[in-house]
Amino acid sequence: MAAFSISKIGTYESCPLQYKYAYIERRKVEVKDTVETFLGSRVHEALEKLYRDKQFEKLLSLEELLGHYNRIWEDEWDDTVILVKKDYEPDNYRKVGERQLSDYYRRHYPFNKGRVIGLETKSYLPLDEEGTYSFHIRIDRLMSMGEGLYEVHDYKTGSSLPEQESLDKDRQLAMYSLWVKEQFKDFKKARLVWHYLNFDKEMESFRTNEELEELRQAILKEIKGIEAAEEFPASVSELCNWCRYKSICPEWRHEAELEEKEENEYLNDPGLKLVDEYVRLKEELKKHQKEAGDKLNKIEEALLEFCKREHVFTVFGSEKKVSVSEYRDMAFPDKNTKERKELVAELKKMGKWDEVSAIDVYSLKNILKNQGWGEKELALLKRFAEEKKGYRFSLKKK
Ligand code: SF4
Repeated sequence: MAAFSISKIGTYESCPLQYKYAYIERRKVEVKDTVETFLGSRVHEALEKLYRDKQFEKLLSLEELLGHYNRIWEDEWDDTVILVKKDYEPDNYRKVGERQLSDYYRRHYPFNKGRVIGLETKSYLPLDEEGTYSFHIRIDRLMSMGEGLYEVHDYKTGSSLPEQESLDKDRQLAMYSLWVKEQFKDFKKARLVWHYLNFDKEMESFRTNEELEELRQAILKEIKGIEAAEEFPASVSELCNWCRYKSICPEWRHEAELEEKEENEYLNDPGLKLVDEYVRLKEELKKHQKEAGDKLNKIEEALLEFCKREHVFTVFGSEKKVSVSEYRDMAFPDKNTKERKELVAELKKMGKWDEVSAIDVYSLKNILKNQGWGEKELALLKRFAEEKKGYRFSLKKK
């Protein structure tokens, strides 16, 4: 049985090459924690202890909880932990964890709402009837609140807070709640709860049974797509800084080679020279475009003045002439506004919609790329779509 998790699927979505290294070739590289993952693990372990002790009728004081956290921090710490952000010391991160735990403790003390029925659960949710695919279930804390209500809790120690909209689309906790639904006969509803510890904030979301079933099918479809993939291109992004395969990734080889070179050799590297020249020309182009645009605007203003003063609309140069004409334009309500929806509805009602609507090629491309329609519709789209290959050059910070 092939088992998938959201992080496995997410790895493919963010970089297929990283997925290939991790899950197909299972490359062995020395895995070092970043300080962010180290902090997250220690905070999770401290909260697990808090609730595990509580299950045994032992309520830790805040001092005991922080004492435990600091002990495991010291025991587990080693100097190979990577500090990606160079402005902060390991101790800054340790204190962040202390603050997160203290805020959490004060907010939820005495921890007596509902009953803990799972801590760091380890199980699998079958995705198809044949039992070919399954989904990893790892719930930080599962609570039974009575009368068929369950809560799936997840702790987040990172430094970004999502929008409610993205939590309402979150797949991980929703899949966990699908497993809860299949485990407990009295299941009526699950509350998905995220504790954003860095912000002392609790956020929640709910799913209907239909939404959960649709999600199961969507995940299954995506997994089959991943399994059928034959190409695993690299996708360079900010996330590379946290990728354990960066040292073997071909996309970062040139940087590693440059780091090895002596100053003279470094400055004569052909790739480095090309990029530096490319950057210089791009900047020059931008500067000239802006200067030329500003000059053009000024000349247009002066030409208009000239026309008004001379009561003419045509002005002659040595080889060409400029004609100035006044125009009036119409504006219609912007996309996604209430007025736009009303306009579309009225046009449809009048039977005029086909005359004025146009194909949104961008949306069609996205549908094809994300396999957003059923097989029959996608096959039809493919019949009309022609793949064109080109190269795009984009400048990014190193
Ligand atoms: S370093 Fe970046 S591009 Fe290379 S495998 Fe990792 S995530 Fe992908």
